[in-house]
Amino acid sequence: MTSKEKSATDVNENNVTEIPEDISIVKHAGHKLRTGKKIVDRSQLDKLQETLGQGEKLPNQYTGHTYKNKKEKFRLDGHKMLYHLERINAWKRGERIAPIHIDMGLTKFCNIACVYCIGVTQGMQKGAMIQPDALLRFIEDCGRLEVRSIGFIGDGEPTLNPAMYDAIVIGKQNNIDIGIATNGVRLDLDRADDMLKHLTFLRINLSAGDREGFSKIHQSKGDNFDLLVEKMKALVKVRKENNYACTLGIQMVLIPENFDQIIKLAELGREVGFDYLQIKQCSDTEYKEIGIDHTQYARATEDLKKAETFTTDDYYVQVKWNKINILGDTDVYKGGVRKYDICYGTPFLGQISGNGRMYPCGPFFGKERFCMGDIHKESYYDIIKGDHYWNVQKDVVDNVDVHCDCTVGCRQDYINKFLWDVMNPPEHHNFI
Ligand code: SF4
Repeated sequence: MTSKEKSATDVNENNVTEIPEDISIVKHAGHKLRTGKKIVDRSQLDKLQETLGQGEKLPNQYTGHTYKNKKEKFRLDGHKMLYHLERINAWKRGERIAPIHIDMGLTKFCNIACVYCIGVTQGMQKGAMIQPDALLRFIEDCGRLEVRSIGFIGDGEPTLNPAMYDAIVIGKQNNIDIGIATNGVRLDLDRADDMLKHLTFLRINLSAGDREGFSKIHQSKGDNFDLLVEKMKALVKVRKENNYACTLGIQMVLIPENFDQIIKLAELGREVGFDYLQIKQCSDTEYKEIGIDHTQYARATEDLKKAETFTTDDYYVQVKWNKINILGDTDVYKGGVRKYDICYGTPFLGQISGNGRMYPCGPFFGKERFCMGDIHKESYYDIIKGDHYWNVQKDVVDNVDVHCDCTVGCRQDYINKFLWDVMNPPEHHNFI
């Protein structure tokens, strides 16, 4: 016996499978399988069907799909970057891409005073707004740059800018999807057709389901709650009469002071005929100025789950669990810590303050080191194509510590986690 043959024999002798005695096995040629079950003869599948009970489906008959996953209508607790791979690849090649989406304030002041308003921490300024000519020029630039969507969202109340309605119409004419988020109290229903015909969505920021809750959370008269509910019903009516496609939604910002409003608001959204209610965490600044204690959210879990049961074919209630459960393990956070270390998202999701100044993101409004320009002074096209804009983007990537310098629960969280994975492929990534 050669030494090679000997060592092979040794290996075989030592290679004893120790199957516990209480496990049944079936013998096959050269192999024992850990099961007493009959092995299916794949060449006789047609005969097997006869052995099944009624209603049972035999695998491998190839009779078409079984639909067990309801199609996701809106992805409110996640991102849609997968549908924009071209722009991601262009960015990876170093091209000066425009954002896919922009959130922008149209003003820096408001007609109500929500107790959780993060805009206050960045300095509200009565009367400050983007001037109509700058706004409309900006939107035309966005069309040239192939910005896909703009949300008039954040900073002050957009309906206080008289140019908002024309901006919606011009945005659509420039092939840009437009959405707005408003407290709704000052919505001009004379422009309801312009809005509902041209908007992709209109979202009411409402975090209470009755007059008392409204007064407490939004610090506005109870009568304004009634007025708002009437306006919401009127929007539903105009949409229905004209068969407009605009989605009508509600966003609730959750803080311990409005836990008692969750169910009332879920009911109200259904009653007025809106399409969805999304319930989100309250973002807090890097200095924790709003004072959100994330441990408190656990107390609302039962009501949040109950609110989701209000979902029907026509009405969708979505809790943003990925951020509400920030202290647990979600797609984006674990134990209150982001699951990414570098912010790559700001070139894809831009944010502009209601005074026209551009920053990488909302939480950086007013941090002058990161100011990228002002759409009153320069064209948006030139800003995007210029060196300064990309130097600021590089500053964010190189120098911002997302675990210390950033708002907890920022708008770019979902896409940042996705881009982190794009930029940090594991080894052997070709073995998909
Ligand atoms: S991670 Fe930081 S820099 Fe990036 S968008 Fe969020 S708050 Fe802004």
